[in-house]
Amino acid sequence: MVYLVGAGPGDPGLMTRRSLELIASADAILYDRLIPPGALDGARPDAELVYVGKQPGGHTMRQEEINELLLKLAKEGKRVVRLKGGDPFVFGRGGEEAQELRKAGIAFEVVPGVTAGVAAPAYAGIPVTHRDEASAVAFVTGHEDPEKPDSAIDWFALAAFPGTLVLYMGVGNIEGIARRLIEAGRPEDDHVAVIERGTLPGQRTITGILADIDKRVAEMKVRPPAITLIGPVAKLREQLAWIEERPLHGRSVVVTRARAQASGLAARLATLGADVVETPAIRIEPRPVAGEVRAAAEAIGEYALVCVTSPNGASLLMDALDELNKDARALHGATVAAIGPGTAGELARRGIRADIVPERSVAEALVEALQDVPVTGRRGLVARAAEARDLLPDALRERGAEVDVVALYDTVAEPLSDGQLEQAAAADYVTFTSSSTVRFFTDAGGTVGNGARVVSIGPVTSETARELGLRVDVEAERHDIDGLVEALLEDAGK
Ligand code: SAH
Repeated sequence: MVYLVGAGPGDPGLMTRRSLELIASADAILYDRLIPPGALDGARPDAELVYVGKQPGGHTMRQEEINELLLKLAKEGKRVVRLKGGDPFVFGRGGEEAQELRKAGIAFEVVPGVTAGVAAPAYAGIPVTHRDEASAVAFVTGHEDPEKPDSAIDWFALAAFPGTLVLYMGVGNIEGIARRLIEAGRPEDDHVAVIERGTLPGQRTITGILADIDKRVAEMKVRPPAITLIGPVAKLREQLAWIEERPLHGRSVVVTRARAQASGLAARLATLGADVVETPAIRIEPRPVAGEVRAAAEAIGEYALVCVTSPNGASLLMDALDELNKDARALHGATVAAIGPGTAGELARRGIRADIVPERSVAEALVEALQDVPVTGRRGLVARAAEARDLLPDALRERGAEVDVVALYDTVAEPLSDGQLEQAAAADYVTFTSSSTVRFFTDAGGTVGNGARVVSIGPVTSETARELGLRVDVEAERHDIDGLVEALLEDAGK
C-alpha cells in the first residue's frame, strides 16, 4: 500500500492528523526537500527513510527511479509513505506517481496537504480570494522559461484571468513572467507579493507592482522556495499582515530543556512569533521502580511530610505509586509540599493538591514556607532528581526531622549536532530553565553569540550560568515557565 501524503508548506503545525498517523506507522518513507522541519520525528525508529529530493550536488533522483522504488517497496508488502511538501496533487507530481501505481495494480491513498500557494499568502496576510477583490484564483507553474516559444503557458489567457494568479516555482523567472504578462495586457500596476519561505521561521514578503517587482526581488535577494501572487488582493496585506505583529517575530530563541519537556515552552514561544531553536542538551532518565525508589513508594504512608522538588519528580513519584497499585490516597495523611507552581500543577494533574506551594520555585523558599509545619521527630521524604542541592533535607534534619531522600531520575547529557550548535550560536535569546540545562548545554559545546541575551528562570540557574562564564541578561521574577516567558517578552519589548 502506498500513501501519497502532503506535509504542508513548512510550519509543522500545518501537517494534517492523517499525515502524522501515517508517518508514525510507515515501514518506509520517501521524502522530498520541502517537508517541514521535524516532519519525520514521529517515524518508527526502524522505518526506512529515503531522501529522494535534490542532492547537494544538484543531482535529483529521476522520477522514473522514484516510481521504481515506490513500486519495489510496495511489492515487498511494505506500508510506504511518499511524503511531499504542500499538497501532493498540486505541482507535486503526485498525479504521475498515482498513475504508475494504478498501472501496477498497487493500492494507494491520497492525503491532501495545505498547499503553499494558499498558505504562504495567508501567513503574509493575503486572502487569495475576496468578495470585493477576486472571485477566482489560478495556480500556475512559473517553472517554465517564459521565453520558450512553444510555452505551455497561455500568457494572454493568464493576463486576462479575472482573479488572483498564484505562481509556484517562479521566483527565478520573475522578470520574464512580469514582462510577458504586461505585454499580454495585464495592468502594469497590478499588485504583486512574493512570499519567501512561507509559514517557516524567517518568512519574508516583498510587495510591489508588476512593473517593478523584478527589481525588488533582485534587491532583496529572494530565494526559492517562494510563491508569487499577482492581483488586487495583494494590497490587503497592508491591513491584514499578522505574523509581523507578534511580539517575538523575527527573534530566534534557544530552548535548552530536555526534549520531553521542551515542547510546551517551544510551542508558547512559537505562538508568540519566535523562531525556536531546540537544543535539548539534557534528557531525563527515570530510575526504575526498584531499590530506594521502590522502598520510598512502599513506605509512602509513613511519611508525615512529602516534599516534591520538580515537575518531573512529581510525575515520577506518582508513576512509582501507580506501579505499586497505589494512588493519591496513599498520601492521605501526609503534608505535601511542592517547590513551586509548576510542580504543584503536575501534582494536581495526578490528583494531589499540595498543601505548601511557595511562589518562588527555589529550595530556600520551600524551607521558609515549611517553617510552621511541625517536623521535629517526624519522618519526611524529599522526592527529587539525583543531582540536586541538599539545602532542603539539611534544613529539615536540622529541625529534628528524620529525612529520606529519594532520587527518582537522573539528568543525562544529550549530544547536540553541529547544525544545532550553529543555530544556537546565531540566536537572539538563549533560555535556561535549570542549572543542569546550563551545564549540559555548555558541556555539549553550546555557546551564546555576541549580542545574544541569556534568559534564566531564577537565581540558582543564573548563578550556575555565571560560574560557567555566561552573562545573565534577564532573570525571571517567577521561577517557572510562565515567568520565564513573561520576562523574555518584557525584554524583547524594550
Ligand atoms: N506540492 C507543493 C508545491 C511543490 S512545487 C504544494 O502544494 O505547495 C515547489 C514550489 O512550491 C516552490 O518552488 C515554491 O514556489 C512553492 N513552495 C513550497 N513551499 C513553499 C514555502 N514554504 N513558501 C513559499 N513557497 C513554497
